[in-house]
Amino acid sequence: MSAPDRHPEPVLSPADLAHFAGLLRQRRAELEGELARQGASLADVRAARSGADADDEHDPEGPTLSDEWSLRAGVHAELTVALAAIDAALARIDDGSYGTCLRRGEPIGRERLQARPAAELCIDCAREQS
Ligand SMILES: [Zn+2]
Repeated sequence: MSAPDRHPEPVLSPADLAHFAGLLRQRRAELEGELARQGASLADVRAARSGADADDEHDPEGPTLSDEWSLRAGVHAELTVALAAIDAALARIDDGSYGTCLRRGEPIGRERLQARPAAELCIDCAREQS
């Protein structure tokens, strides 16, 4: 007889949001550092490769450098995607939608957010999509 109108609990309290914002900013700083290192090594490969091209069209090092390039470019792309996901999560903290599944709007859950602060989907939707 008391409170038949259960107010939906706020998914995350302001303290929770501050906690996850802190996690995201920390992760963001790590990724930016990693990205800066990757950028530097990409420049190294680029310099090495253009040097090889200028010296000899049949440089036996060519394929190796290309492989190295692909590998590093792939890592670079992953870091960029991860960084964008973090920025999107920080934007959702600002606009109040953080912590709810982008697909169906249900709470993502603190445990999942603790493990993956940039998660956009609840665990069920994430499983369905993979
Ligand atoms: Zn969902």
